[in-house]
Amino acid sequence: MENHNLPNKLMEKLSALNKERSRHIFSLTHGKPMIHGLLSAVFRRCGKPACKCNHGEKHGPYLAMSVNKDGKQRTVMVKKKDSPEVRKKSERYRHFQQTLAKIRRINKEVDAILDQIKAESIEPYT
Ligand SMILES: [Zn+2]
Repeated sequence: MENHNLPNKLMEKLSALNKERSRHIFSLTHGKPMIHGLLSAVFRRCGKPACKCNHGEKHGPYLAMSVNKDGKQRTVMVKKKDSPEVRKKSERYRHFQQTLAKIRRINKEVDAILDQIKAESIEPYT
């Protein structure tokens, strides 16, 4: 029994996955700068005794970024003038990581299909 034609369904699936993976890959080749850091809004007390911040209404929000430096988690304050740029670069990083995860999921799917094709195509020689 010989059948050299792979099931159309598998071919269509592979083709779709390949197309999607290609689209993801090229969305990551922009080469624009990114920042790896978790952004958060912080509120602070200024320390002046008579200030409203001593009675619940703290100053802020200020943009802070949690970064990993030499294996230690540190929080740095982001300068107001840098905020839009930092947000943009941080968003790029987030998108990069998410897309990378999608590509890896697709790789696994492609791998499984190829394994299936391999298993179905192997014939014994006897
Ligand atoms: Zn204050």
